[in-house]
Amino acid sequence: MIAPGSTIGIIGGGQLGRMLAVAAAQLGYKCHVLDPDRDGPAAQVSARFTRAAYDDVEALRAFGESIDVATYEFENLPVGPLEVLGDKLRPSTRSLAIAQDRAREKAFIEECGARVASWRAIASEQDAEAAVAELGLPIVLKTRRYGYDGKGQAWIRPAEECAAAWRAIGEEPAVAESGVEFLAEFSVIVARWADGRHTFWDSPENEHGAGILRRSTVPCGDAVALQVAEAREAAIAIAEALDHIGVLTVEFFASRDGPVVNEIAPRVHNSGHWTIEGAVTSQFEQHIRAICDLPPGPTDLAGGGAVMDNLIGDEVNRWPELIAEPGLHVHIYGKGEARPGRKMGHVTKVIA
Ligand code: ADP
Ligand code: MG
Repeated sequence: MIAPGSTIGIIGGGQLGRMLAVAAAQLGYKCHVLDPDRDGPAAQVSARFTRAAYDDVEALRAFGESIDVATYEFENLPVGPLEVLGDKLRPSTRSLAIAQDRAREKAFIEECGARVASWRAIASEQDAEAAVAELGLPIVLKTRRYGYDGKGQAWIRPAEECAAAWRAIGEEPAVAESGVEFLAEFSVIVARWADGRHTFWDSPENEHGAGILRRSTVPCGDAVALQVAEAREAAIAIAEALDHIGVLTVEFFASRDGPVVNEIAPRVHNSGHWTIEGAVTSQFEQHIRAICDLPPGPTDLAGGGAVMDNLIGDEVNRWPELIAEPGLHVHIYGKGEARPGRKMGHVTKVIA
């Protein structure tokens, strides 16, 4: 067990790291953040900060000596340099390596017995054309690596868009996957301990706009509710196969044929932000409990449910009005410029 008073390393300094650090501080831990950018959201609320590139092995080694356990809040990290952290890194580099490559991820999910949209790995325009011929339309191309918030993706609806889509994703190694006609999107958020114990939260129903999460709602609607049991089985099978320690999020489409896995994130997730006020134990506290081997906290709803809305770009400028609204929990991430498409904060309303 890693006792309160110990230091938790967080690799990645964004809003997820910030909310992890706040939860860790409440339990009496200190956090040490490593990030290539100065003064980011997580560093602002942490005891220590190292500014270093993610592949700076010497900096990672020194960081590793200064902490008792380390975690990551960001998946686009080079895996090799993290090996210097050894067993101190939770979840391990295995979860990271699989989640950061969409082709490996999909193959792995299928090996775990879960459903994914029909897909092909592609590396050329000819491969993309072949995928269109084999899978039919519509198809979405997604770069294997570095995609987030809908970035690195392009749709092919009529086949003539194939060349333009291949160019739009930067002619990078990619996956081509069938468009899923979903009834709704939802996620399963699971926290797993080294000994296999695990907890789930109620599954939020998630609405996206332009590839970015806009709103998560708990409880989910009926169409999703009917698929949660099967989706949880898939999520825990994935977590077990990864030997994952900490929070793992699995994004799903609720389709007419049942739950289809979209992608996994080896970490706390935007669709779980509602748990801060809407559940007895938040995803952030539970992640800290799991990586420190403290007992699991209860994950029941704190009220009747919750609605979480992201504040994207200049929406954060509405804060004076939002903060004046009784019972609305306002979270502002302390980022600099409110660029379009940038997640600047979120608000949660707990339903009575
Ligand atoms: P990101 O890593 O950017 O979150 P996702 O693969 O989750 O990438 O895609 C973002 C969103 O785009 C999804 O939540 C969904 O709304 C839409 N989308 C992605 N893939 C598909 C698909 N195969 N069928 C239908 N919608 C999709
Ligand atoms: Mg996603």
